[in-house]
Amino acid sequence: MKQISIAMLERQVKTRIAKLGQCEPFIMGSLVESKRKCGNKKCVCANGGPLHSAWIITKHGIGNKTRSIYVPVAILPEVRKWADEYKKVKELLQEIDGLGEQIIAATKERRKALKAAETEE
Ligand SMILES: [Zn+2]
Repeated sequence: MKQISIAMLERQVKTRIAKLGQCEPFIMGSLVESKRKCGNKKCVCANGGPLHSAWIITKHGIGNKTRSIYVPVAILPEVRKWADEYKKVKELLQEIDGLGEQIIAATKERRKALKAAETEE
């Protein structure tokens, strides 16, 4: 059986923590474009023309509650970067979380192996 080194797992956690520290500002949501009619019956959008674009950040909160935040076009490039950065942050958080679980599992394995060795004596 392959021996999992706890020290190695802990090093992997530290590397990811360091990467988190280098992250740029982020927003915990996804940027989506929404096309809609403006409500003006004389507008081209009401007469088969192109619809109006609005950019929205959708945030998934606790209990599947979704919040939508309208993003002004003036800061759209910035918010797009934040949303992209969050993908990176989320990935790192999930990796750290997974490594924590592996450390717990490896610790249990090690204790089991130690106990087995003791009873063999
Ligand atoms: Zn319109």
